[in-house]
Amino acid sequence: MSSSDFDVVVIGAGPGGYVAAIRCAQLGLKTACIDRWIDNDNKPSLGGTCLNVGCIPSKALLDSSERFEQIRKHSAEHGIQTGPVEINIEQMQQRKRRIVSELTAGIRALFKANKVTSVNGHGCLIAPGKVRVRASDGHGEDQVISAQHVILASGSEPTVLPGIEPNGKTIFDSSGALDFDTAPSTLGIIGAGVIGLELGSVWRRLGSKVVLLEALDKFLPSTDSMIAREAQKQFSRQGLDIRLGCQVTQVECTSQDCTINYRQGADDRSVPVERLIVAVGRRPCSDGLLDPACGLQINERGFVEVDQNCATAIDGVWAVGDLVRGPMLAHKASEEGVAVAERIASGAGHVDFATVPWVIYTDPEIAWVGTTETQLKTDAIEYRAGVFPFAATGRAKAVGMTDGFVKILAHADTDRILGVHMIGPQVSELICEAGFAMAMEASAEDLARTVHAHPTLAEATHEAALAAAGRAIHKINR
Ligand code: FAD
Ligand code: NAD
Repeated sequence: MSSSDFDVVVIGAGPGGYVAAIRCAQLGLKTACIDRWIDNDNKPSLGGTCLNVGCIPSKALLDSSERFEQIRKHSAEHGIQTGPVEINIEQMQQRKRRIVSELTAGIRALFKANKVTSVNGHGCLIAPGKVRVRASDGHGEDQVISAQHVILASGSEPTVLPGIEPNGKTIFDSSGALDFDTAPSTLGIIGAGVIGLELGSVWRRLGSKVVLLEALDKFLPSTDSMIAREAQKQFSRQGLDIRLGCQVTQVECTSQDCTINYRQGADDRSVPVERLIVAVGRRPCSDGLLDPACGLQINERGFVEVDQNCATAIDGVWAVGDLVRGPMLAHKASEEGVAVAERIASGAGHVDFATVPWVIYTDPEIAWVGTTETQLKTDAIEYRAGVFPFAATGRAKAVGMTDGFVKILAHADTDRILGVHMIGPQVSELICEAGFAMAMEASAEDLARTVHAHPTLAEATHEAALAAAGRAIHKINR
């Protein structure tokens, strides 16, 4: 067994781990990053779930399918005449693969430029400051890497429903659903959460008839309820068949298709589909990460427990990203990675968990930061709400995307912004202004007094801030 010494060793090169490794190296720490990912060409690939089978490939497909739908359904109103419009799915998938490989190669280049040592293999914490690396293919000699600090960033993987395991033919998880070579005529999705809605939108736009079976009675329960209602209305109008309160009891597959049997209320129902995606959440990827003798254990749900600073119960062992509590989001993982690197180097680092934004990249997009109205009511916090519809902004009219609105919630006494909720065009971008305002502890009046360019979609945020004080210009204040 060979061995080597570092200041920091990171296990996992997703957005938590690779960002932590780069920041450690920038701060002068001798850093290694171990990752076991092997791509479809049998080559190591950095970037974790996010770059390989998550954020990036899903957004590439969302963009291609959105363009296809726009051209088919909305060209004529602009006076653009087209012949029959077709989608070449193989070409769309090639574009997605190229984007992924450019970005993963980019991480490799950043590691090189920052002098991060990249090690391919499975990492296991065997003792504080000691990580054993086993080659991804199981061959070759184990290696032990010693370091003063270890950052665990092994991420997450799809939750599997017993009896409904992916089989590569009819049943798929999110990774398999990103690789379809044709749009199935009928597509079932178990779980109407973020992945179900994003991937359901992709394949619906490309021609699939999509049915989503959701266990809960409420649609998107963690979003603002006004937004969830509007989203459900828009998605149903587009043709997504969203069925709530469904308990899937059994899935029967042939080599061609499958039948999903489920119970909804008192009724037993079934739906035949050509393909099925299971998207019922993700679980931490912690199998084989901790040797029983290392002194640290995963909890009953598979997470590594940490405090607000991402410190584990062992001095010098840290954990970040999907492996620990909090939302499973790439930007949250990266911010934790940066903060841990800075704590290791200087003793101080910070993540503002209250201003982590959420985005669902459907059409319309959904985005929010901070507290919901329901939560404010539960906590008996007095607030004022300002709502402004995109339909009343010139830019939304000009780009033909008038569905949705911005809602700002501000404290009744201090006027401090407590939450911002959006549904509409490009709200994935607009939410960043709201996040910045909240991080700066801005009041709704601060936003209202900030000059916003005209004509922009961001004027809806400006007007919602004015509306919170009952003085919106382009709508009637009630
Ligand atoms: P990961 O990205 O999961 O990376 C962990 C890495 O560690 C992997 O490379 C894994 O192979 C490796 N690893 C695991 N165990 C070991 C071990 N023992 N030894 C060595 N290596 C190991 N989030 C967003 O914010 N925005 C989005 O738009 C978005 N879209 C998504 C779309 C899909 C379809 C999916 C599935 C997820 C999406 N996410 C999105 C979630 C996002 O991908 C995750 O929150 C993020 O990747 C978590 O980062 P991480 O570094 O904690 O873990
Ligand atoms: P999710 O938690 O968003 O949604 C899962 C849904 O499945 C929930 O509504 C849940 O009630 C439902 N469900 C659970 N068990 C079920 C069952 N047996 N039958 C029917 N429904 C069931 O999880 P996801 O969509 O799998 O995504 C996983 C995570 O990945 C997300 O929580 C998010 O953190 C991350 N992600 C983020 C983005 C983004 O930021 N845009 C995109 C994709 C994924």
